[in-house]
Parts: sequence; C-alpha cells; structure tokens
Amino acid sequence: MSEPSNPARTAVVLGGSHAGMLAARALTGLAGLADRVVVVERDVLPDGPAPRKGLPQARHAHMLWSGGVRAVTDLLPGITEALHGAGARRTPVTTDMVALGIRGWFRRWPESHHVLLAGRDLLDATIRAQVLADPRVELLTGTEVLGLVSDMAVRAGAVTGVRVRSRDGGEVRVVEADLVVDATGRGSRAGQWLAESGWGAVERREVDSGLAYASRLYLAPEQARSGYPIVNVQPDLRDGGPGRAGFLLPIEDGRWIVTLNGTRGGEPSPANDDFVRFAREELRHPVIGELLEQAEPLSDVSYTRATVNRRHFYERMPAWPENFVVLGDALAAFNPLYGHGLAVAAQSAVLLRDVVRRHGWGTPGLTRRVQKALARPVGTAWDLAVGQDVFYPDATAKGPTLRDRLVAAYVSRLMHTATGNGRIARRVTDVTSLERGPEVLLSPSVLVAAAMGPWKPALTGPPLTSDELKRAGLR
Ligand SMILES: Cc1cc2nc3c(=O)[nH]c(=O)nc-3n(C[C@H](O)[C@H](O)[C@H](O)COP(=O)(O)OP(=O)(O)OC[C@H]3O[C@@H](n4cnc5c(N)ncnc54)[C@H](O)[C@@H]3O)c2cc1C
Repeated sequence: MSEPSNPARTAVVLGGSHAGMLAARALTGLAGLADRVVVVERDVLPDGPAPRKGLPQARHAHMLWSGGVRAVTDLLPGITEALHGAGARRTPVTTDMVALGIRGWFRRWPESHHVLLAGRDLLDATIRAQVLADPRVELLTGTEVLGLVSDMAVRAGAVTGVRVRSRDGGEVRVVEADLVVDATGRGSRAGQWLAESGWGAVERREVDSGLAYASRLYLAPEQARSGYPIVNVQPDLRDGGPGRAGFLLPIEDGRWIVTLNGTRGGEPSPANDDFVRFAREELRHPVIGELLEQAEPLSDVSYTRATVNRRHFYERMPAWPENFVVLGDALAAFNPLYGHGLAVAAQSAVLLRDVVRRHGWGTPGLTRRVQKALARPVGTAWDLAVGQDVFYPDATAKGPTLRDRLVAAYVSRLMHTATGNGRIARRVTDVTSLERGPEVLLSPSVLVAAAMGPWKPALTGPPLTSDELKRAGLR
C-alpha cells in the first residue's frame, strides 16, 4: 500500500449519481472506513428532485426492486421513511401488479417481494441528501474527471488520485486519494484509462436488443391518483420478432410515468401523438393505452436508445492496480427493461463496504478482491438480461447458443406455471427482485412444479378490479 497522501484516509468517488452516492456512504457510514470522501461530479447537482443533464434516464420509468431497497436501507437506515414521506410508494409484488408475462397474465398473488416506485429525480435527491448530511462527504460539483493518476513504482502499481478540471474551463489539477471509485455510469472511461496506464485491455461484452425507450409523464385520473397498481405488458420472445413492452408506474404526486419500448424493427415513435396509439395497438394488450386515454399528459415524450447490455470483466484482468474500484453502470449496464441497474449498484456498494471492512483499508490486493466480489450481483443481473435479449434479431453476432435455448425454454415453462401457481410465482419474484440467486429456480420442487404446469386456469384479461377500472374511468 502506498503511503497515504494524507494521514487521513481519503477516498475519491467519480460520479455523484446513484452508485457514487451509495459508494460514498459505504466508505463512511457506520463502518467509518474513510475519514473523508470527495465525490467529483460533472453536473451541478440540484438542491432537490430536479432534472439534470448528466442523468437523461431520469425522464424514464425507474423502479427499485426489493433486493436493492434492502441494500440501500442497509447503507442508509432511514431512507425508506424519507422516501415514503416524499411520496414514493412501496408496491407489493405481484399483489399490486397487473402484468402480462411472456406466457399470460399473472395473478395478483399475496406479497412475495416489493418494488419501490418514485421518480428517479426524487430517489436520487433523497439518497443524496442523506449521504451529504455526513460532514465526511464532500461534493465537488461542476467538475469533470479527466483521468487517473497512478504510481507504477508502488508494488504492482497503484492509483493515487485523479486529474480533474472544473467545467467552466479552470486549470487541470490533481485530487489525491488512497482509494478511487469510478461510478461515472455508462460513459465510464475506466477501461481506456487502465489501458493507457499499461494495465492491458479489459474484456468487454455487449448484447444489444436494439431497444428504444419512449417515456411520458401523465397525471392520473383523479380517483386513481393513489393506490393504483403497476400495469405492465411484457414482450413475447417466442416468435423471434421484435419485442414490444410497456410499463405504467404510479409515482409521487398522483402521476403515472409510462414507458413504451420496442426492439429493432418494433420501436415506438418519439412523437407525442403516437404514444397512446402505440400503447393501444402495438403492445400485446391495449390496457395501457386505454388507461392513458383517461389521463392527462404532463410532458413530451422522452426517447433513448441507451439500452445495450454492456459488461466489463475487470475481475478477469490478469493484473489490477491497488486502490481502484469500478462499480455501477461503469462496471455493467443492463437493458433497463429488467429494472436491475439501481439494485445491483446498491448491492455493489454494500459489498465494497463489507470487503474493505473484512480485509482492512489499504491491505494488498484489496481492490482486486472488491472487484471480484462485485462480479456476483453483476453476473446475476447480467444472466437474467442477456439470457432473454440474445433472442432478439441481431442482438449478437452468432445468435443464441444451445444453452441459451434450453434455459429460455425452461424459463418460459416457469413463467407459464407462475401464471397459475402462487408458489412458483413467488420463486420467480425471488430472483427478479434480486433477493435470491437463480439457483432457487432449479430446486427439485420447482422442477417438478414446472413439469406439472399451472394448477389454476389462465386469466383471459388484465386482473384489474372493478373498483380500479371505475377509478380510472374505464367503467
Ligand atoms: C431508460 C432507462 C431506464 C432505466 N430504468 C431502470 C429501472 O427501472 N430500474 C433500475 O434499477 N435501473 C434502471 N435503469 C438503470 C439505471 O438508470 C442505472 O443503473 C443507474 O443510473 C446507474 O447509476 P450510476 O450511478 O452507476 O450511473 P449514472 O446514474 O449514469 O451516473 C453517472 C454519473 O457520473 C457523472 N459523470 C459521468 N462522467 C463524469 C466525469 N468524467 N466526471 C465527473 N462526473 C461524471 C454523471 O454526470 C452522472 O451523475 C434505467 C436506465 C435507463 C437508461
């Protein structure tokens, strides 16, 4: 370990979004691992929940699965109360979820897990406020990270700081650190920085379903502004054509954030006046379009194609510098359809804290250990996303492998069983919520249940109650 540049333990976190703030908390918090954490963020961050340039995805629907809620709460014990107080909603799954899965409508089974629903700006602002309340965390906003500073004379080489420049054109300067965490999101240049410093090229994999995302904010009909379920129409992967899906998520202030999406050849249009038509006519069921006809649009359509699954296998590099960690979307970004990026980032921050605490700040090989530990939550979400996305046209050069096809056939059978078997629906949400690993889907009792199929008949339409239909103006 290099001598600390400062007798106090200083960490620098690059990027002040979800992963960056949680990493800062992981290193301070009750664990008290660092004496000081400097968060360097390119944007000037707003005081409260407001949009900003560096977070374009905040205009799209975001949900945080309970595996992620658990991790965020582990780091910030009072966070869910603060979020609920600000209007975020804890939504039991599949109880408050009206979802057409790949093999039919799910029943609204008793709660197995939950998702937290809030506008992304509210989620970030609430987490940020709690993290920055700690005087050990300093925020350097309007400041861009340009690269790493390393000392190759130290053992195998160590990162000792970062070069930064304020966005208003100031001088390039160095912020020294005993630990640097890259959380700069999908645009991270960590791979390039490491290659330039002689660490070699990182193995990188991309699986691109070509998914385009169109999202719009609505004011729900007056009677449906609280306690309304999630409505979700998922794609059908089996015909080999494009997948089209939609989500309606009730969020704070009586609003619905609605995302419509389609893979290559099935993309939604960015035009405002095509939004409801797409929901009514292009999805597998028109329910989202019917609900939107009763609601009032509050925004234009926001559009993005930043949906490729991209993973950097830093944990496989033959050598790794001391004092450097990459996490969040900078490490692996997933197709947002599965809603796992936030939860994986939170679980990664918890692992960062736990590995540093277990092995001791500054012990040799520490950050390599951290990077290897992060491969587990990242790998689970990666397999879930890529296991489905390889089936979309042109997602990969070679198409699905035999293993992909076998796994997909089993998942399809499980989804079919889950429509009419509450125990299997629970096992499926164990995994989608990131509460448990996919191995629970291979237990003997699940295999037998999948072989037998659903024990209740298929639902013929969305399981909205007559009260819910009435409150939304549909009856
Ligand atoms: C359309 C869409 C919908 C999504 N929906 C969901 C969902 O429902 N559920 C879910 O869990 N996940 C969802 N995700 C994924 C989620 O948005 C990401 O996983 C999450 O934002 C990752 O957080 P992060 O902090 O790693 O990166 P980001 O949130 O992207 O933040 C990176 C930060 O780094 C800053 N930065 C970048 N470069 C520099 C630099 N050089 N110097 C200084 N600062 C820099 C940026 O300004 C930004 O603040 C969605 C993503 C998209 C695109």
